Amino acid sequence: MKPRIHYTKPSITELEVRYATDAAANGWGEHCYDYINRFEEAFKVHLGVKFAIATSSCTGALHIGMAALGIGPDDEVIMADTNWIASAAPITYLGATPVFVDILPDSWCLDPELVEQAITPRTKAIVAVHLYGNLCDMDKLLAIGEKYGIPVIEDAAEAIGSIYHGKRAGSMGKFGAFSFHGTKTLTTGEGGIFVTNDPELYEHVLTLSNHGRARGQTKQFWPDMIGFKYKMSNIQAAIGCAQMERIEDLISSKRRVFSYYAEAMCDFPLKMNPEPTGMQNGYWMPSIVIDNNVAFDRENLLSNFKVDNIDGRVFFWPLSMLPMFDTIPENIVSFSLYTRAINLPSYHDLNELDMDRVVAHIQHHLNK
Ligand SMILES: *Cc1c(COP(=O)(O)O)cnc(C)c1O
Repeated sequence: MKPRIHYTKPSITELEVRYATDAAANGWGEHCYDYINRFEEAFKVHLGVKFAIATSSCTGALHIGMAALGIGPDDEVIMADTNWIASAAPITYLGATPVFVDILPDSWCLDPELVEQAITPRTKAIVAVHLYGNLCDMDKLLAIGEKYGIPVIEDAAEAIGSIYHGKRAGSMGKFGAFSFHGTKTLTTGEGGIFVTNDPELYEHVLTLSNHGRARGQTKQFWPDMIGFKYKMSNIQAAIGCAQMERIEDLISSKRRVFSYYAEAMCDFPLKMNPEPTGMQNGYWMPSIVIDNNVAFDRENLLSNFKVDNIDGRVFFWPLSMLPMFDTIPENIVSFSLYTRAINLPSYHDLNELDMDRVVAHIQHHLNK
């Protein structure tokens, strides 16, 4: 059998190993937060934001951020139907309801017009997820948020390296959240981060993230409110510090993989992740969407991948298809796109011969 082509895999060098080893050996006692502080600083500088709180996951970062915004029972939060469950789950943890609107066919992200139509007196937030590195139309979403007094949250878990007219994904909304899960562009194994430019929101989230213990509280073991426990460990942060030193490299290798695929398939009847003028796409996950008028069977293509030891994945299902939500077939873009789309393998050091193998399968499938 040919060598395995993984779907994703982290880029770990001697540097990550050295920092993690140091944290395991020495990162205790008065040093138990050293790598966490350093990681948060580095991430703030990279993103161009004032505040950051490292967390155990992006899901946790979204949960504490939404809790701090006061989202609760009977509230509604608008988001795109095509998404990973992690963006919707925290809304439900707070007793609120995710309202799923359709996506735009080119960006695969929230359609701002449908967002505006979905606003009700109960709407408490809009979650802009930059899907697969593709950027949401932030100008329009922020303008809608402004008009109705509704915060726009950025779930930028998939958008490290994505830049919207000079601003990094995750730095534009009321707050942003990132994931450092092992499949993401930058990893700490598991992990995430909450970022914001709002000092009050930061203080509130900081307190919530530490079991409700406020920074200025002098009494020991004295929480002022019920909070959460979603902290990142110092050992994970040590790996994150090494990844931050290599971040430009991590992003450019993702972009290299995308460009190679895009070039190789430039005359195939399909679309890949867009990069409109004025934007940079971090290309977390190179994906193909086969043109409407072309016969395509994603299960067949993925099973051919599998036989050849290649790991491809299905595009996200519309969340409203899942058993815990009410189906919204009116979201026609979400409901047609996933049937014609897949994610391609894209780890940082994926070589050209391996990408040629992937492309050959797609070509064969489309020529049948
Ligand atoms: C990966 C991902 C998450 C979840 O991240 P965790 O760190 O696993 O909680 C959330 N949102 C999006 C868009 C993701 O891709």
